[in-house]
Amino acid sequence: MSSNSTTSLDFGDQPDCVSVLLPLPLGKAYTYAVPPALSLDVGDFVSVPLGVREVAGVVWDGEVDDVPPEKLKAVLARLDVPPMPEKTRRFAEWVAKYNMASLGSVLKMLMSVPDALKPPKQVSAYALNKEMPEIKMTAARNKVVEVLKGSPPLPATLLAKEAGVGTSVIKGLAKLDALIAVDLPPPPSFTVPDWQAPGPTLSAEQAAAAENMRAHVKAGEFAVSVLEGVPGSGKTEVYLEAVCEALEQGKQALVLLPEIALGAQWLGRFEERFGCRPAEWHSDLTQTKRRKTWRAVAEGEAKVIVGARSALFLPYQDLGLIIIDEEHDQSFKQEDGVIYNARDMAVVRAQLSDIPISLVSATPSLESLRNVAQGRYEHFDLPDRHAGAELPDISIIDMRVDRPDPGKWISPKLIGALKETFAAGEQALLFLNRRGYAPLTLCQGCGHRFQCPQCTAWLVEHRFLGRLQCHHCGYQMKPPDKCPSCEQEDKLYACGPGVERLAEEVVELFPDIRAEIAVSDNLHTPGQAQELVHQIEDRNVDVIVGTQIVAKGYHFPYLTLVGVVDADVGLTGGDIRALERTYQLLYQVAGRAGRADRPGRVLVQTHDPENPVMQALKNGDHKGFIETMSQDRERNHMPPFGRLAGVILSGADERAVDQAAARLARTAPRDNGVMTLGPAPAPLALLRGRHRRRFLVKAGKEVNIQARIRSWLKATELPRKVRVQLDIDPYSFM
Ligand code: ADP
Ligand code: ZN
Repeated sequence: MSSNSTTSLDFGDQPDCVSVLLPLPLGKAYTYAVPPALSLDVGDFVSVPLGVREVAGVVWDGEVDDVPPEKLKAVLARLDVPPMPEKTRRFAEWVAKYNMASLGSVLKMLMSVPDALKPPKQVSAYALNKEMPEIKMTAARNKVVEVLKGSPPLPATLLAKEAGVGTSVIKGLAKLDALIAVDLPPPPSFTVPDWQAPGPTLSAEQAAAAENMRAHVKAGEFAVSVLEGVPGSGKTEVYLEAVCEALEQGKQALVLLPEIALGAQWLGRFEERFGCRPAEWHSDLTQTKRRKTWRAVAEGEAKVIVGARSALFLPYQDLGLIIIDEEHDQSFKQEDGVIYNARDMAVVRAQLSDIPISLVSATPSLESLRNVAQGRYEHFDLPDRHAGAELPDISIIDMRVDRPDPGKWISPKLIGALKETFAAGEQALLFLNRRGYAPLTLCQGCGHRFQCPQCTAWLVEHRFLGRLQCHHCGYQMKPPDKCPSCEQEDKLYACGPGVERLAEEVVELFPDIRAEIAVSDNLHTPGQAQELVHQIEDRNVDVIVGTQIVAKGYHFPYLTLVGVVDADVGLTGGDIRALERTYQLLYQVAGRAGRADRPGRVLVQTHDPENPVMQALKNGDHKGFIETMSQDRERNHMPPFGRLAGVILSGADERAVDQAAARLARTAPRDNGVMTLGPAPAPLALLRGRHRRRFLVKAGKEVNIQARIRSWLKATELPRKVRVQLDIDPYSFM
């Protein structure tokens, strides 16, 4: 702990001081005095005064400031929670520096549950008083005494139950001092998964990958592997072996998954194999669960943690393994607050902790495959579906030729396939990545379009809810009876399809079938997702009409047809990953068709059949596709061949934002391998009432882009009402 030894307690003229980092958007730690009675170490959680408040922070390494004695405040207390390990502190510093966030905001992510810093409530229980007072015994009282004779102290309700008496009997005995109250530590929140329970016998390829991961876990060494394999090839079985090894070593294992929707089946499967549920971490936990989990992770009691990206910022006591399942998924990128990519930061965490990490996907990202090609990452390919189930047959429907009726979206070919599927008693999935009924409403009289007043976005019609809604800010309105602009009635027209409209169309075509819509709007919680999964598994549903929420991870044995209704959604726009992302998504959706013993087929409707995405899908050529995309990015010096950072200015006052942008433009870095594009209005030029302007900084791989941006921004004073957001390695170009 820097130069401050906690033994020199001459508090008079040379107080003993420590640096305390607070979970606030501050770049550095503050200095506090250590009162003589307290012995502190780096990593300790402490509470300190800040203004009139009392806040919790962490004793950080590093020099203390020279604070004049009259200004120096003292640490109030050491908190009863395991200290933050050095590896975690180094990780926090790395994340802050790389993503250009303040260290305090990163600490805030690591201290996301302030309540968990308080020791958990003790459970009060009753034991027999060894010096039993003379009291009148009754039959009921005797029963209680009998139970406690051979038992450790019991909580009142449990004791009453065991003895078969009412709690009033217990209270009565306590009042008479026959029973004494004792405090017990709360029971553990998590049990250790049974890693000795046998898993399936692995195939040769599966075993090779599993052995490799196990060896790295056992050796406690940093290694990154990409585990690639078609859906159903047993990737999960392979990495669960590595999880077993971590458990055997007494270490913790973290599995990051893209979305809670993946949770239901995954958790069930985990429980089946290991006899208990893992610790979960996602936005849908109750506060109590959150507090218990955070603490159990800090104490090392929770061994396997499965969660969304923020689970990377839990206070692991002794992490032994990280798995990123569906590593290509965009949801690992956090887009607000501290902007970071959880997959990339997980690799950093693994490196700083000397542990292995595995990136798992059927369609690994271009970035990860590039690291494989350069020999930085290991690569394991699981070539076949387990038990020889066949990959679905993918065919492309050219919508310019095979046209649906006007105002309809399902082509005759797809209608034919649906008919056959339903006739065979099998299930179909219609995929369309658009929530609601129609993405745009316009007036056929005057051309008025319904736009969000706070965002550069159309209002999406949600017919079930009877609302026009903005998908960016949540603004909503009741659809009016007449056009607000020309006041004509009956002229409002819904343009284009959303899943609601598609469900309407399929039910019109097949009046007897049971359709279910699967969108984030009606699948908020793991419970709701689970319910839908059961409905489908029990074959109470014939066709699922859904967005990307159904694309992930599910196995439905009777689902044999997947219809991609509009494969072109998402192909356009300035996003460098648009094609790759579309490919990954469609591939994943296609994988829902025909598992187990039923071969599936996939029909992809597009207006652009020659697009590399459609060609790669049809030919099952992920490698060739990634190769084409790589060449493209290399030619344009885009990541991973160059560096990229977004600088977004925003504010309610458009003029102020424009002025700030103009000022920054004058000093923008444009030399020594750096190029700055912009300022340009962001595609979402107005978002939640804030005007937005973007710069895009492009640099060669050898350039320290963060340093360049830092000195650029430092040199230019901006008004406080203009906010600057930095996005290193941007994924969203909105
Ligand atoms: P992926 O993660 O690649 O989609 P899974 O690990 O989920 O694949 O495997 C798909 C199905 O095949 C699961 O039900 C799994 O239990 C089963 N499976 C995979 N490998 C084996 C194996 N070696 N022996 C028995 N069943 C297996
Ligand atoms: Zn809006």
